[in-house]
Amino acid sequence: MSPRRNSPRRKETRVQPPDEDGLMLRITGGQRRETGADGEWVIRRISGAAATKTYRCPGCYQEIPVGMPHVVAWRPYGDGEDRRHWHSSCWERRAHRGVRMPRR
Ligand SMILES: [Zn+2]
Repeated sequence: MSPRRNSPRRKETRVQPPDEDGLMLRITGGQRRETGADGEWVIRRISGAAATKTYRCPGCYQEIPVGMPHVVAWRPYGDGEDRRHWHSSCWERRAHRGVRMPRR
């Protein structure tokens, strides 16, 4: 009979409350709508971890390297075939292209 150590039972790792932001992101896909000069778009921010492919940005025609957080945008109507991956900065610039940027 080995004396059992009566160590107080550790509470199981507390179940973390659901990360609501994460949950919302999963539900909505982190999407939101934007209306630009060229119509309505649905955009979604892609985290660096989720950027596993190289894309070509239609804003500057440069590649978006793997691991770089960026934006994907597509038309809210349609089948998503027109998805485009943009550099975040290019997307912002596109959205605000009516605003004149100060020249350097
Ligand atoms: Zn770009």
